[in-house]
This record gives sequence, C-alpha cells and structure tokens, in this order.
Amino acid sequence: MWRVVAVRALRRDGAGAGAPRAASGAAVAQLRRRLESELEDIRGAGTWKSERVIASRQGPHLRLAGGDAGIINFCANNYLGLSSHPEVIRAAVEALEKFGAGLSSVRFICGTQSIHKDLEEKIACFHQREDAILYASCFDANAGIFEALLTPEDAVLSDELNHASIIDGIRLCKANKYRYKHMDMQDLEAKLKEAQKHRLRLVATDGAFSMDGDIAPLREICQLAQKYDALVFIDECHATGFLGPSGRGTDELLGVMDKVTIINSTLGKALGGAAGGYTTGPKPLIDLLRQRSRPYLFSNSLPPAVVGCASKALDLLMESNAIAQSMAAKTQRFRSKMAEAGFTISGKDHPICPVMLGDARLASVMAEDMLNRGIYVIGFSYPVVPKGKARIRVQISAVHSDEDIDRCVEAFTEVGRKHGAL
Ligand code: PLP
Repeated sequence: MWRVVAVRALRRDGAGAGAPRAASGAAVAQLRRRLESELEDIRGAGTWKSERVIASRQGPHLRLAGGDAGIINFCANNYLGLSSHPEVIRAAVEALEKFGAGLSSVRFICGTQSIHKDLEEKIACFHQREDAILYASCFDANAGIFEALLTPEDAVLSDELNHASIIDGIRLCKANKYRYKHMDMQDLEAKLKEAQKHRLRLVATDGAFSMDGDIAPLREICQLAQKYDALVFIDECHATGFLGPSGRGTDELLGVMDKVTIINSTLGKALGGAAGGYTTGPKPLIDLLRQRSRPYLFSNSLPPAVVGCASKALDLLMESNAIAQSMAAKTQRFRSKMAEAGFTISGKDHPICPVMLGDARLASVMAEDMLNRGIYVIGFSYPVVPKGKARIRVQISAVHSDEDIDRCVEAFTEVGRKHGAL
C-alpha cells in the first residue's frame, strides 16, 4: 500500500519526478494512432485480457484488490500449494539474507553462487538425469535450447498444440521443421519417415497440455522415436512435482524415464511458484547450453530468494509425496462430482480440469457469475482455444479443502442451470 501511495504522490499533478514524459513529434503521433487502432481491434474481437489485481498472497483463498477476502481461487498453477508454504517462504528469506537480493550479473561473468550449483544438482537428481542448467524462466529454457542444439542438418518434429515458448524456440533455430497433428501418432510416424534424410531428429512435445489437461502419449512417442532413431524432448511445466508415483513427471507416469532425453520445466508452477526454469538431460548437452544458449548467456542469474524457494520445494517433494497424493484425491473429487452434475470435463486425472461449454459468451458470463459467488475461475475462448471449444479452466491444488471443491461444484451447478449449460 505504501508503495502505491508514494508513487501516486510522485505522479500528482503531472509535475513530480514520476510524471510521465510524453515524447512528441509526427512519428510518435503515428505510432500512437497505430497502437490505439490495434488495441481497439483486440477489444472489438472480444479477446482483450484484463488482469485482476490480487491483494493477498497466492493461495486457495484470495483477497482481490478493492474486493472482499475469501475468494476461492481455482485458476493458479499452484498445484501443490507451495507458493505460500511457510517452509518455502522461510527458505527464501534465509537465502535473501545470506546471499543478497541478486547477482547483478549473468552466470558466466560473476553470477554463480553455491546455491545455483546446489539447485542444479538437486534438479538433476530429482529427474534422475546427468546434469541441469537454470534459466530465468522455462520460456527462456525453451527459447534457448533448439537454436543451441540443432543445425540446418537436423530436424525438429513438434506437436501442433505445443506451448508458445516451444513454438518460438523452434522458430529461432535453423533446423528443418515438421509439425504433427495433436497427439496423432500416425501423423508423427509419417513425419518421422519424411525426416529420415536429416542428420538428427528431435521430437518435441508438452508432457501435459495446459488448455485440455491431456497427457502426451509418451510411451508411443518413445517407441516411434526408437524405431526412427530420434531423440525426445518434453516440456514438463504442468507435470513436474505431481505426475507419476513420486511426482517426477509424465515420463515417470508412463514408465519411460530412460527413454526421454531432454526435459525442460518451470520453477514457477508446482515447485514453489516463484519463477525460473531449467533444462535437465545429458551432461554434454548441459555443458553446450552453458556455452551457447543465448537466454542463459545474456540474462541475469536467478535471484537467491527464488533459488531458495525452489530448492526447499524440491526437498519437500523428495521427502514425501503426500502433497501430490492429496492433490490427486482432490482432483478426483472435483472431476467425479462435476461429471455427476452433468458437466463434461476434458482430460483425465490431471488437476487442469477444463469445463467444456462450447460457446465463448457462455464461458465468459458463467466465469463472471462464478466470481459473484466467490469462486475465481477463468473462461477461455478462441483464439486461445479452437472456435466452438470455449471452456472454463479449473485448476485444483493440494491446499484446496474438500469444502472448497464442493462449493465450486455447487456454484457451477447453480450457474450452469441459470445459463442453460445443464
Ligand atoms: N511451457 C509451458 C507448457 C507453460 O505452460 C509455460 C507457462 O505458462 C511455460 C513453458 C513458460 O514457463 P515460465 O513461466 O517458467 O516461463
């Protein structure tokens, strides 16, 4: 609060040190006109993304700025509820006090502390891989890997619904690009046959897809990769920490830990939720990324507090998988009660539970009405998801209580009846 007040005071009357300085001139005027027209187009298309301001910590219960406390939150990737876990927060404070606010440097100049090395070792150990490298985000890890690894002699085969950061990372590399239909193994096989002429083939897929809560058929992908001599890369942002018997991810869930070569994942979702990403895999690959990967080489080191959060989150997961089991039980409760109420939930067993509604307007008004009942969920429609497949995405967390889940189902039932979705 003090910060907002202080900034407002600086900006008052447009005369203080914080007052915006508007550049002028014909080029700026032209730019403003163009930007305003583009913004108008976004509003007109109904795809404007507004941001709700949260006035409390991330957690199952929130206070929205200017609103009541006690909103039940079903739209964070806080799968294990570690974002506000007392031990995670304490570890961040300790790291902050011991190692400072930040490194003011990239890793290879003077930005590597013992905690960075320890966390990389812990990540590699968690995934049972040879080595790991930290990035400021998984977006960066995805942006940095393909260009460093693949040359024009190589090929990359990517699921058409892969995350935007994989798509962008692939755009940056000079390898031959093949896009296969979503989770379609016949199409992947056809593309692998076509790609035999290249030196090296890399199949790239999300382990779990965040819009549908569906899980990549990794067993089949690995079989095809073996048949056509390809490597497998998975993005585990929506799997690390909770999928599989000990939360290692999709490769553990589907019994192919020894068949997947490269894993990219985030520290910004289940693993404490602060920020950061990583690649884990063969040591020579990690060594090469330290030499060649541009988002790693030319961006600041992860701040110690962030490293402290992720490191503690991994300790908690390696001690016990009780948190992940609790999340799985709550996911099951929500999915079965919603199905009983008559809703269609996409995906299977994943804490991303998309309530399929079809119509974009229906998804939007129902999400708004859910908030009026104290349940925070978000509607997604085209172009984020295909036309006619609008939905409300519900994300379950280990720290939701059974009562939270039941209140959510009750609210959906009331709102669904009111708007004719049931
Ligand atoms: N990959 C997937 C599948 C994601 O869902 C996300 C985040 O939304 C990212 C990568 C980027 O992760 P980060 O937030 O660490 O940049």
